[in-house]
Amino acid sequence: MSIPLPSLSDISNMVALLAIPLAAWGTALWLGLVIWTFKDMRARSRDPFAQIMASVMVAVLMIPGWLIYLMLRPRESLIEAYERALEQEALLQQIEERPSCPGCFRPTLDDWGICPYCGTRLRKGCPGCDRQLELHWNLCPYCGTPSAPTPAGLAAVDADAPTPTNPADQETSEADPP
Ligand SMILES: [Zn+2]
Ligand SMILES: [Zn+2]
Repeated sequence: MSIPLPSLSDISNMVALLAIPLAAWGTALWLGLVIWTFKDMRARSRDPFAQIMASVMVAVLMIPGWLIYLMLRPRESLIEAYERALEQEALLQQIEERPSCPGCFRPTLDDWGICPYCGTRLRKGCPGCDRQLELHWNLCPYCGTPSAPTPAGLAAVDADAPTPTNPADQETSEADPP
């Protein structure tokens, strides 16, 4: 008794049976890639022409087309670009809000009286409590002592004040006020 060899029609039947699920799987994959590409491109570009072109390329070239799309697609999505723009704006605002010297435009601190870079007077000392006041204030907000508004700007270091030449001189001039 011998095993009967499969006839030619049996083989073609088996191939057909295998081909149907393969074709269905391939079609599903193809359709999925096209839809995915369209959605991905829509998240990255507002241009409807680019969205359609990318989808058509993947539909025609299939997996190689999809690989080409992955290489050529815009690097960041529209949401990512929007978030980056927001971050940059916030950063710019922070820089703008930082106080700076009106003379040399370098960043200063809130409690500085004189710019250490160019000597511009930034604030004045209160005659009553010695706190730092804005130059344009007429009254100390801490103790109420009136203080004449000093014109802002480069009227920095007193011209009449003796300019110390060395630290020793400075110490004596500070120790003995005129
Ligand atoms: Zn300055
Ligand atoms: Zn005061």
